[in-house]
Amino acid sequence: MKTEGIPFLDLVTVHRELRGELRAVFEAALDTAGFIGGPMVQEFERDFAEVCETRYCVGMASGTDAVRLALVAAGVRPGDTVVTVPHTFFATTEAISQACARFDFVDIDPRTYTMDPEKLLAYLETECVPDPRTGRLVSQRTGGPVTAIIPVHLYGQVADMDAILDVAARYDLIVVEDACQAHGAEYFSKREGRWRKAGSMGRAAAFSFYPGKNLGACGEAGAVTTDDQQLARACSMLRDHGQSKKYIHDIEGYNGRLDAIQAGLLRVKLRHLAKWNEQRRESARSYDELFGETHGKVVLPHVPSWSRPVFHLYVVRVADRERIQKDLTAAGIGTGIHYPIPLHLVKAYEAEGFRPGDFPVSERAASEVLSLPMFPGLAPEQQQRVVSEVVKLVAAREGRP
Ligand SMILES: *Cc1c(COP(=O)(O)O)cnc(C)c1O
Repeated sequence: MKTEGIPFLDLVTVHRELRGELRAVFEAALDTAGFIGGPMVQEFERDFAEVCETRYCVGMASGTDAVRLALVAAGVRPGDTVVTVPHTFFATTEAISQACARFDFVDIDPRTYTMDPEKLLAYLETECVPDPRTGRLVSQRTGGPVTAIIPVHLYGQVADMDAILDVAARYDLIVVEDACQAHGAEYFSKREGRWRKAGSMGRAAAFSFYPGKNLGACGEAGAVTTDDQQLARACSMLRDHGQSKKYIHDIEGYNGRLDAIQAGLLRVKLRHLAKWNEQRRESARSYDELFGETHGKVVLPHVPSWSRPVFHLYVVRVADRERIQKDLTAAGIGTGIHYPIPLHLVKAYEAEGFRPGDFPVSERAASEVLSLPMFPGLAPEQQQRVVSEVVKLVAAREGRP
C-alpha cells in the first residue's frame, strides 16, 4: 500500500499551473519599473471591489495593516475601546493596539466559532456604563469609550452580521469586518432579503492575501473594502505617508502600500478564486459525507442556513486533540490548530488581567479544534485516508480505559 504524505496545504501546485501568467506580471513590472502604485494596483483594486460588491477597495501591505488602517480611517481614536473575540488570529488585537485603541472581548458561538451577538449585547449592557457627559458607553475594564466592533469571519464563514449590525446601530458603533479568512464568503441578510458578500456589510472590512489564504499573494498583501468614499480616501492617504499628493502630507500616515507586483499576481489569481472556493466547498461536502454520523466524537463544521462559507479551513473538534494530531503527523497527515491559545490568555496580554474561565466557549474551542487538510486540488482519495485515520484514532481512544 502506498502511504504518501498528505500536506495540510499545497501552495506549489496552484502556482505551477499559473506560472506563465505570473511570470508575465513580473516581467511587465521589470519592463516599466512600476513597482509602487500605478495601474497594476488600481486594476486589482477595481477587480477585487467588484468581487466583494463594494464601491471601493484600497490595497494594503498586509491584512494587519488593513485592520489597523480601516479602524483609524473609520474614526477609531486613541484610547477608544474596540470589541472583538478571543478566538481569532493575534493580528486582530494587534491591529487594535496599533491604532492606539484598547480591545475588549466577547465570547463566540460554540457552533460557528464567530462572535455571539447575544454576548455582545450582554457585554454592552452589563460591562459598560454610559458616560454622563457624552452618553457613550464606557468599558469598565479599559475605562475608554466603546466605539467599534470587529466581528471575525473565521475559517471562511461570515459572523451573524444582521444581529451584530443591529446591536451596533443601537449603540452607534462602527463595524469593521475582519474578512481576512473569508474571500468570497456570503451571508444571507434577512433585513435586506438578499445574500451579501463578506467585506460588504460593515463600515469597512479588512482582507489578507497572505499566501495561505483563499486568495493569496506570492508574499505579503492585504486590502480594505468599503462603500464609503471618504473612508476609502482616508485609507489611501494613511497607507501612503498621509499624502494627498506627492509631498503634500495632510496627515501623518504609514508605509502600508500594496506592492505593485503582488497586485498584478493577485489579479491573475483572482480570476480563479470562485473556482477554487467551489473546490473547497466540494471538499468540505466530501469530508462531511465521509465522516457521516460520528455521534459527537468528531464534531463537524456547522453551516447555518444563512451562511455560504468558503472553507478557508475545515475544522473539526475532537477530545484528546494533541494526541490525535501527533498520531496524524506520524501517519503523514498534515494538520493545523487555529488557534491553540485564546487571545485573552496569550503571554503578551498577561498584564490585561484576564483569567482562565473568562471566555469558556473560546477556551474549549481552542483546546479541541483541529484543522484538516484543505486546499483546491485536494484529492478524494486523500480525503478518504484523512477521514479513515481520524476515525480510527478516535475509536482507538474510545477503546482505552
Ligand atoms: C491572516 C489574518 C490576519 C492578518 O493578515 P496578515 O496579512 O498576515 O497581516 C488578520 N486576521 C485574521 C483573522 C487572519 O486570519
